[in-house]
Amino acid sequence: SKPVVAIVGRPNVGKSTLFNALAGGMISIVKDTPGVTRDRIYADVSWLDREFTLVDTGGIEPESKDIILSQMREQAQIAIDTADVILFLTDVRQGLVDADSKVADMLRRSAKPVLLVVNKVDSFEKYMPDVYEFYNLGIGEPLPVSSASRLGLGDMLDEVIKYF
Ligand code: GDP
Ligand code: MG
Repeated sequence: SKPVVAIVGRPNVGKSTLFNALAGGMISIVKDTPGVTRDRIYADVSWLDREFTLVDTGGIEPESKDIILSQMREQAQIAIDTADVILFLTDVRQGLVDADSKVADMLRRSAKPVLLVVNKVDSFEKYMPDVYEFYNLGIGEPLPVSSASRLGLGDMLDEVIKYF
């Protein structure tokens, strides 16, 4: 069967927007309210001569005791456990926050290949200086993308398929 690529990260970083940009027809709900994607959503994606199954997740709010947020964390953990490659999405507009570091710790424990993707880089000229901050997560080189403007997605996919 096809390799599985899961998009994880805290709510509102743009996971569903990235999923929709890559998945074509299949739509995952995008809302300004953090955490609207409660279920995992799947789509088949092809890039060059490779195919994989992409999984959107509701997001990880690392320390919340809220029942919905903890269910979302469980779903994300299941997605992490079943994934071959993880796209760890962060948000350049909000910058590096403590929740990102906690998600990074979860991902390190999973020992799966992780690509650190910095979203909302709608202008490389304007936001690249802020992208470098994400090196501090200690999880590798940050890849800048704009899911909304479809910037950097090809370079990101080139990195994804190297792991198959
Ligand atoms: P999720 O909770 O991680 O799935 O995030 P969503 O995909 O629902 O997006 C949360 C918000 O960020 C929405 O208002 C999106 O329109 C916005 N957003 C997503 N990607 C981008 C981007 O590349 N640039 C900008 N400026 N906004 C984005
Ligand atoms: Mg979502």
